[in-house]
Amino acid sequence: SAIEKEKVLNDRTQILKFNSMIRNENERMNKYVERILLQAKLDRREVHLKKVPVNLNVLVDEAVEHFRLQVEEKGGVIRAELDPEGYVISADEVHMLNVVCNLIDNAIKFSHADSTITVETTSKYEKIFVSVRDTGIGIPKNSLKKIWERFYKTDLSRGKDKKGTGLGLAIVKEIIQLHGENINVVSTEGVGTEFIFSLSKAEKEDGES
Ligand code: ATP
Ligand code: MG
Repeated sequence: SAIEKEKVLNDRTQILKFNSMIRNENERMNKYVERILLQAKLDRREVHLKKVPVNLNVLVDEAVEHFRLQVEEKGGVIRAELDPEGYVISADEVHMLNVVCNLIDNAIKFSHADSTITVETTSKYEKIFVSVRDTGIGIPKNSLKKIWERFYKTDLSRGKDKKGTGLGLAIVKEIIQLHGENINVVSTEGVGTEFIFSLSKAEKEDGES
């Protein structure tokens, strides 16, 4: 009613609350639309990687710092365990940052507030690996293959987070495959989850020895 509206308009805290609700919804919608558009572009093979030399540890660190406040405010722990040797990879910087951020976003969403999230870089022979692991709700065995499908959500997460689009991992996998690499998951229900993907060291440009 008019009187109700009048009341709300005179209530500063109410206005601020609505303002932040609208902003959050807006952010969520933007993220949703962005994902749908990216998925459509991937389908039409219109995503062309702009591969440049990327310092992997710097990229991972950037992703971790992006989430640090959000995790620590809720009593959780997030840490980067970076291979001290450090590597330059050949990757699309924007898409690769997106991949790592998507995996961390999942690790946070599907964990308890006080969980620990670890992002690690390691190397073995010619390969480099990035691992994102959490001590969260885990993935049921019969869901492990389906999580890569669009819009799929496990029974464990459906109630917990109705808001995600379920496109995150489908896109992550495609971006990694476009780089010629692979991603795997290891998870135990109620214990935690680890996603690991491979990368290759950047080739040296010229005949430097
Ligand atoms: P979106 O990423 O589009 O916002 P989403 O996070 O629900 O939505 P995906 O990232 O594609 O979608 O993940 C698919 C499903 O896989 C999730 O809904 C969840 O059920 C499960 N899942 C993904 N990561 C984890 C994780 N770290 N721990 C437990 N379950 C996970
Ligand atoms: Mg996700």
